[in-house]
Parts: sequence; structure tokens; C-alpha cells
Amino acid sequence: MMKTISVKRTASKGVVMGKAYVVKRPDLSADRSMINDSAVAAEVARYEAAVEAAKADLAELAETNAIFGAHLELVQDPTLCDGVIDKIKGELKNAELSLEETVDMFAAIFESMDDEYMRERGADMKDVGKRLMCKLKGVEDNALSAIHEKVIVVAKDLAPSDTAVMNLEYVLGFITQEGGVTSHVSIMARNLNLPALVGVEGILDEVNTGDMIAMDAKVGTIILNPDEAAVAEYTEKMEIFAKRERELAEIALLPAETIDGKTVELFANVGSIEDIKNALPHHIEGIGLFRTEFLYMENDHFPTEEEQFEVYKEAAELLEGKEVIIRTLDIGGDKSLTYFDFGVEENPFLGYRAIRICLDREDVFKTQLRALLRASAYGNIRIMYPMVISVEELDRCNALLTECKEELRAEGKAFNEEIVVGMMIETPSSCVLADEFAKRVGFFSIGTNDLTQYTLVVDRGNKKISNMYNSFHPSVLRNIKRAIDCGHAAGIKVGMCGEFASDPKALKVLLGFGLDEFSMSAGAVSEVKAELRSTTYAAAKELADKVAQCAYVKEIEDLLN
Ligand code: PEP
Ligand code: MG
Repeated sequence: MMKTISVKRTASKGVVMGKAYVVKRPDLSADRSMINDSAVAAEVARYEAAVEAAKADLAELAETNAIFGAHLELVQDPTLCDGVIDKIKGELKNAELSLEETVDMFAAIFESMDDEYMRERGADMKDVGKRLMCKLKGVEDNALSAIHEKVIVVAKDLAPSDTAVMNLEYVLGFITQEGGVTSHVSIMARNLNLPALVGVEGILDEVNTGDMIAMDAKVGTIILNPDEAAVAEYTEKMEIFAKRERELAEIALLPAETIDGKTVELFANVGSIEDIKNALPHHIEGIGLFRTEFLYMENDHFPTEEEQFEVYKEAAELLEGKEVIIRTLDIGGDKSLTYFDFGVEENPFLGYRAIRICLDREDVFKTQLRALLRASAYGNIRIMYPMVISVEELDRCNALLTECKEELRAEGKAFNEEIVVGMMIETPSSCVLADEFAKRVGFFSIGTNDLTQYTLVVDRGNKKISNMYNSFHPSVLRNIKRAIDCGHAAGIKVGMCGEFASDPKALKVLLGFGLDEFSMSAGAVSEVKAELRSTTYAAAKELADKVAQCAYVKEIEDLLN
């Protein structure tokens, strides 16, 4: 039966129709009952069959993703197989329990080793254990890698690493039960230019794999099992959407300037070379944020200097002399790595993350800095540090950068001696100290996604309080204004790479505050340009001056409406 669901938070625009693919994550805990002697042979056989089935899957997956090649070796490793079978035979534990205990034991051994490569094998061991457990229990997990027809992916939540296993060619859009507009699933969807709706309560109870879905991610409507009339309506909507996209493609060719001639830079946010290639046709003037964490998340090891150098070099070359702002590793929070143990944290967003990890793991950080420096010989690369809270941190980052430069000079390796280094303004501390930071960096880029969550103390991914997550809050706006004013007082460029930069309602205020560069998912650039071209700077300034005086959220909202 047809059913319509309205969604308040749209994550990435677009209209689409297709079959649902519901991602189910099964319970993989082992049954703890013991077996009799007579059941031993059958349990061993069950385990061996599970290994064969996992091997078959992994052999196929290994053709497209190197991570799975390592898993294929591990799944047939005699130490693991013998460990499980010995437990079944010797301790009379069922196959699931024997597997769980063996995997936990090996993973713990790996993870306690000094050698980093060996420690990383602990995560692989757990992944392989999960796969074998699915086979034993006859359930599916990691279902994302199994998608091989065009579908709308419906999931409780999607982590950035999930997209690494999906074949995106088949993904028409995303719907998730959890997540907010600035959660990473939303950002990914926008970078991929895929329609997405997030925080859709109860969606998993409503829809099954194979159900037809029509969704309008701009308005925020999901229609389950659309009837003929709805299909016709959505077919028309898809056409209208495509027509608007064509209009925007024309606007994309025009300069980013207001009616009275004030120009700003419209840049794109990307997470990969693929994203850059998708962004270039939108006539962007540069890359305002290259999130390098995806390079780390899609790997089974910390990417080497050479691996990173190739990517950054390609990015620089693709931009042909235009600015490419590459952010150093911003991991932690909701972004994890399979091969690095962050430990359990009560408050990961306030914990061991981003620049804190880089300054703790100087080896990891210097590898990236060296790769960035070397790539700077091939284009206009700028380096940007995330999550900085103190001048000491900034100084330490720059000291390590200087060390890297000295090393490269000694090795006779080329890099841009004049490379510009900047930082993100995404913590309240960096706003308070913006005058100090501005004297010490080449540019600022305001990360409103985090700046909003930290200024307002509202988790950016928490659906329950998402109505409190508001970048139009006067505190957030005043922080933004302060960063821009301090940046300009020191003569540096101030950009914004948080999602707020592409909010059509925010445009006039940010323009009026004097923001120099707006960086966003490439798909949003033309829309913002259209808005900009129908605005005057004079009016924007007048509005921004009024907004800056407001104490109440409501006053600001009234002014903007
Ligand atoms: C931000 O915080 O605004 C930002 C751009 O960084 P990320 O969304 O990757 O945390
Ligand atoms: Mg951030």
C-alpha cells in the first residue's frame, strides 16, 4: 500500500525512484551452549563449509578492493582454522563460540604488538571473524558490498567506510534512520551528488528490500510503493529537476559576482580524486577543502608517502594552477580506521581526534606533510590544519612542517618553498584566539559543521537535538564574524568550508560579513552562484550589520525571512 513520509531534514537534493535495498546488520554474538562428542564432526564440517563460503566471497571482492585480498589470506590461515577446530574438538564448544573466542584471542595478540603493521592485522582478524560468523549463522552482513543493481540504500546509519565497499554506480540515493544534515553520510551524499534523506525515524520498520520508493530529497518526501499517479508525478518531478539542473549548468559558466560587482570565490569540497573530477564540470574556482581522511579510511594501512603523493599530485594537476586546499588528517569523532585503535572514549567528538592524533603520531603526520610538500611542486597546493585549539598546536604543526621541508631539501626533492599554510576555524577556542592565529597563518577556513556543534554544545549527529543545531544562532554568527574580522585585520583570506557556506539563506549574511571564499559540495555551487548574482553587496552588508546586532535567534530568522 502506498504511504507518504515527510522528512524535515534533507541531506542532499534530487528526485529519484527505484527499488529499496535495506541494509540489515545482524546479531553476530555466539550461542554459548556446549556440544556433545557426537556433534563434534558436524560442527567441524560446519566451520569448514563457512570457510569455503567466505573464501568464495572474498576471492570475488578481492578483484575490486585490495583490503579483501588480505582477508582472503587470513580466512584460510591454518593458525586460525586449527585454532577454531581444536576448540571444537578439545573444549566441546560449538563452532560459533569457538570462532568468537579464537578470533578474540588472535585479535588481542595482534593488537598488543609493537609493530604497527602487525597491530593493524587485529582489525583484519575481526573483520574476517565477522564474515565467518555470518556464514555460520546463515545471515548477511556487509550487505553493502553485495549491491549489484540500481537501488536506493536504506540503512540505520551509514559510516564513511561503508561507501568504500559499495559500488556507487548502483546507488541511486540514501535514506538513513539516523544522522543529521552535517553527519558524514550527508556530506558524502552531497559530494557524490546523490539524493539523500537522513534522520528518517522508523523507516526501517516501514520498508523492505525490493519495495519501490519515490523520493524528493529537496522537499523531503518519501513515497513507499507509489501508485500509478505518484509514479507519474515523480516522473514529471524528475524531469523538472533535470531541467533546473540544465539551467544551473548555464549559470555555472558566469562569474561569481553580485549585481553591484562584488566578487567572491566559489570553491568545492571534495574527498577524493573522483570527487574532483565530478566537481570540475561545475566550473569551480578551486578546492576549498580536500578531506584527506577518506584516503585513510578506504585503506587497510596508513597510506604511505608515495601513495599519498600520487593522489595530491593528481589533485594539483587536475586543478591546473587553481588553489587546492588540502586538509591534513581529520580522523576520530565518527570517523574511524579499521587498522588503528582509537580506544573506547566517552566523548569521541571531544576526544582523541584530528590534529591531536597527528601531533601524537608524528610519524603519521610527517608522512602526510612530506607527501603534501612534494605534491606542491605540481600545482597550487595549500595545507590546512583541522581542529586547532591553541597557538602551541599550530606552532608544533609548523615546526614539523619545517622539519619535513629540511628533510626534503637534504634529499634534493622539489616542493613549493612558498607553500601557503592555513587552518580551520572550527573550535570556539580558535575564534577567541582568531586575532593571534591570523598573524600566524596564510588563511582561515571556517568549518561551521564543527564550529556550530562546539559553540552550541550540540552534537552535530544527534537527531534528538537537531532542532537545536542552528548555525544562525547569534553565538555562531558572532564567532564567524569575529574570525572574518580578525582574518581581514591581518590581511589574510577567510573562507568557509562548512555546510553553512551553501545555505541559500546564509548567503547574504556571509557576503555582508565579508567572507571571501565559499566552499561547498560541487553540486551546490551553481545554485549559490544564481543566488549571488541576484543580490547586491550593499543590501547584504546592511542585512549583515543588522544580524550582527541580534541577541535572539528569532530576530535573526525574522530578518532573513
Ligand atoms: C566542518 O567542521 O565544518 C568541516 C568542514 O569539517 P568536517 O565536516 O569534515 O568535520
Ligand atoms: Mg570539522
